[in-house]
Amino acid sequence: MSDSAIIVAELTTSAEEAPARAAAVADWLLDQRIIQPNDQPDPLWWPSQYIPGPAAAAAVRDLRHNTGLIGDGIDILDHRQVHDPGGNYTPPTCPNCTTPFDEDAHITLIKTWLDRTEPLVTCENCATATLLGDWTGPWAIHVANLAVRFHNWPPLSDTFILELGDRLGPRCRLIHKRI
Ligand SMILES: [Zn+2]
Repeated sequence: MSDSAIIVAELTTSAEEAPARAAAVADWLLDQRIIQPNDQPDPLWWPSQYIPGPAAAAAVRDLRHNTGLIGDGIDILDHRQVHDPGGNYTPPTCPNCTTPFDEDAHITLIKTWLDRTEPLVTCENCATATLLGDWTGPWAIHVANLAVRFHNWPPLSDTFILELGDRLGPRCRLIHKRI
């Protein structure tokens, strides 16, 4: 069970590319010893395929976390799904003028994104048209074929997020989930 998660989702990876790229990202995280295989998966307490590795502290921002267990399991997700921030949800804002998206309209468009393609959205205030995944905010919702989810981890370091992003692809989004 988890009550928070940090999700790094990549928006350009196609469904066909996702499994191979997910495997490469898993190899890199294993090589770095950030994660290790979960030898004793438990459907309730340790359902994830991976658990924090001996060097997991290298991935987090606050070095006080360098002893003991960093967090719970890690999932590397290679199928299309909605990545939502749970109770943290706040509609994203226009990247041009910071006007917030109407919440109902946003949720409707997420379904369009999941079922078909990422919508291009025109801001009601400044008339700028922007892809939905480029509206800004850490509490938004994204649809992605590829993502890494860290359950109950402390904040990740900026360096680690950049390194992970390099391996995932060019359009990564960070989602902070509260369950
Ligand atoms: Zn705007």
